Amino acid sequence: MKLILLGPPGAGKGTQAVRLVEHYKIPQISTGDILRKAVKEGTEMGAMAKGYMDKGALVPDEVVIGIIRDRILESDCKNGYILDGFPRTIAQAEALDEMLGKMNSRLDHVVNIAVKDEEIVKRLTGRRTCPACGAGYHIQFDPPAKEGVCDKCGGALIQRDDDTEGTIRSRLKVYREQTEPLISFYGTKGLLRTIPGEGGMEEIFNSILIALGGDKIPGSDA
Ligand code: AMP
Repeated sequence: MKLILLGPPGAGKGTQAVRLVEHYKIPQISTGDILRKAVKEGTEMGAMAKGYMDKGALVPDEVVIGIIRDRILESDCKNGYILDGFPRTIAQAEALDEMLGKMNSRLDHVVNIAVKDEEIVKRLTGRRTCPACGAGYHIQFDPPAKEGVCDKCGGALIQRDDDTEGTIRSRLKVYREQTEPLISFYGTKGLLRTIPGEGGMEEIFNSILIALGGDKIPGSDA
């Protein structure tokens, strides 16, 4: 199963990817996570990427294409993978096609999670994460028991540098201008499955499984 998760920032791609990883036993490849790790570790790539990320702009295509080229060749990707946050431009999508062609491989599905801008701003401004264990929270929809403290490990929760309202608006603009054209790019190829992204997490997950030709989770009412 080789899958792309497409959708605006805050559509729930990361959340759904975690469930899909468990369901299909394939890795999630998030270029955003890889870049954030590089920033944290202070690598040369991280130092270069940080300026773009803080502004809500895209990191240059050749950087993220290089990341994906290396990552999909790793052994855990042999049965498939979930690309989360890549591709984000037509040039990245074309580079991916070329890479896969050379590997005699191809994509199975592109899942587009559709969410309106105002809902995204509400979701992202309230998003908090634990830098120690990676757990995610939302101050309104999924708050921790004690404000600012991770339920799982007691770590101090932080807001991502790019989850402030101004940066979110820039990221949405970038999404509409540079990434949304991928919807028709993959639609033309017959790979696109669009899922409304404004229900509960479980309901959205089941819609994705059905769109991918699988069944919803037994016992689930969603
Ligand atoms: P994300 O966690 O997917 O929202 O990504 C956070 C930030 O990392 C984005 O706003 C971009 O600055 C950068 N980024 C992640 N993936 C890509 C990509 N495929 N192309 C360019 N920049 C990316």
